[in-house]
Amino acid sequence: MAGIDDYSANGSTAFDSLSKLCDELSSYHVSIDEIVQLRKALQQSRNYIKLDYKLHVSTSSTVPDHCSTFALSDPEEQMWSKSCDHTHDDICQQCHLLVMTLVRFESLIKENSNISEENRIRLMKSFTRDSDLVQEWKKHQLRAVHQEAARDHVLESLDEKSVNWAMKWLEKKYRQSQSDFYALRGLPWHLTHVVRLQPRHSSAKYSEKVFENRTFCHSFDSCIQNGASVVSILQDVFMRLKQQHPQIELAYVRSDNAGCYHGTDTLLAVKELYETTGILIHRIDFSEAQAGKGPCDRKAAVIKGEVRRNVDEKHDCTTSTEFVAAAKSTHHLSILSCTLPTTKKNDNQKQVGWH
Ligand SMILES: [Zn+2]
Ligand SMILES: [Zn+2]
Repeated sequence: MAGIDDYSANGSTAFDSLSKLCDELSSYHVSIDEIVQLRKALQQSRNYIKLDYKLHVSTSSTVPDHCSTFALSDPEEQMWSKSCDHTHDDICQQCHLLVMTLVRFESLIKENSNISEENRIRLMKSFTRDSDLVQEWKKHQLRAVHQEAARDHVLESLDEKSVNWAMKWLEKKYRQSQSDFYALRGLPWHLTHVVRLQPRHSSAKYSEKVFENRTFCHSFDSCIQNGASVVSILQDVFMRLKQQHPQIELAYVRSDNAGCYHGTDTLLAVKELYETTGILIHRIDFSEAQAGKGPCDRKAAVIKGEVRRNVDEKHDCTTSTEFVAAAKSTHHLSILSCTLPTTKKNDNQKQVGWH
């Protein structure tokens, strides 16, 4: 299941498991017709969540399940909610089918006198878990659509003074040495993908705009993946950018939902980063795991591939210096700048920029 995020994988497995539950129910005198109908509804709902649901989601819809503004608003916290200018009283047949199927399932387990109490508890437990996973999958799809729209919106609003940003931590295990062939250890590295509008295109229409991409990779011998490391990385990248492009003043940051990004350390550093680098973080978006196969994942795949090739040529890659050497040895990555630390103090900070 490589390339599929946890929500989709779990949701899909939950549908399989619900389908198995149908088999079990048929042994408790539930009619064949009913079982066939349930199975069909499950299949339809699964396809719906997987494909069509994402097309139905929008920031403004009269179907409550489709309106992302309504769905993502916190009813108890005004700061985290937004009101819609429409009512939510329409029903979507497919969303309704899923709800009705789950309700029917529950009543078939609860109200069936042929099931022993012990089995009922077991079945209910399994049903509740699967039904939660299905709902989580659906929520994940809605958030993914919403975040994709947010990214497009940011790209559209980029001008020559701002950059868009995506960040990701990776930890790759590479072979240690020939004598210790199977020993593996993790080498943490961090990718920052920066998108900038080409200045001469600033007044063009969105479809005609040309963007410049640059990827910064920080590799460490060892490093705690916390807010402080993220802030140091941001500061380093900001300073490099500011040096090359002094006109940049704003950054839109996008990261996955890992704790090191949304922790207070990172959020409170916005002011300090601005004071030390002159670049203000204007907005931070958190994206769903693997939603939309972000630029970081694509770049990471290239770098991973190149480093793996180097390791296959019987080189080691167990320290950040070797990681840099491995990346340098390839013909497919153009390295624009690479700084290896010279003092012991910043021994764990090494930067390479890729085009
Ligand atoms: Zn709405
Ligand atoms: Zn729907």
